[in-house]
Amino acid sequence: MRHSIVAGNWKMHKNAHETEDLLNDLIEKLPSDKEVEIIVAPTFVNLSSAVQHLEFTNIGVAAQNMHQAESGAFTGEISADMLKNIGVDIVILGHSERRSYFHETDALLANKVDTALKHELRVIFCFGEELKDRQNQQHFNIVENQLKDGLFHLDAKAWENIVLAYEPVWAIGTGETATPDQAQEMHQFIRQTVEDKYGREVAENVSILYGGSVKPDNAKEIFSKPDVDGGLIGGAALKADDFAAIVNAV
Ligand code: PEP
Repeated sequence: MRHSIVAGNWKMHKNAHETEDLLNDLIEKLPSDKEVEIIVAPTFVNLSSAVQHLEFTNIGVAAQNMHQAESGAFTGEISADMLKNIGVDIVILGHSERRSYFHETDALLANKVDTALKHELRVIFCFGEELKDRQNQQHFNIVENQLKDGLFHLDAKAWENIVLAYEPVWAIGTGETATPDQAQEMHQFIRQTVEDKYGREVAENVSILYGGSVKPDNAKEIFSKPDVDGGLIGGAALKADDFAAIVNAV
């Protein structure tokens, strides 16, 4: 069901001790009475301890990635079953850093989505155009294709476990943010694209997060847009005060 979500993607930051410190800080500073789902995504090696640490809190834990196979000779990889087994229920797939540095294609991501859903993981599916796409007026086409190729093989029921995260690549970690109107324009387009394929109910029920240099000082305006259901936060998720301010901006 559509609801507000703020998720923090910690990327390759924070060792075990730093993870514990940040989690303690977050437990102290994050609101416990707001109608917003709060999620943090530490690195693989700290997921298990994060799940235990956050057990009696309102903060959920997500993985930043997973492999599409059930198991096998894939050195260095992590399976869906391994995540579920330690109590992780959410996985981020398709982050632009996975797409660009690790060459993850829409076809591969469609495969990962299937494996994640089969194991009852919820998926935060990331997608968004690069700067050149926007400059060439191709941003709507690119986003539509990413959505179709990554997710449109699913049946309507599967969408109950999908969260979308629109993240224009040019805004990630750059300090450059889409204006609230640009975000709303794209989120509305995304919701309409989902509606065209699956109908109004599915489109109205999917949460669509914005990601790209969301900070305490711009979060409120972005989140106030009708089709923006919260944010996927990178840099600002690494400071408890900033992340708490962003959650409070919902
Ligand atoms: C991200 O990596 O998903 C992200 C949005 O990063 P940042 O907030 O640092 O731009």
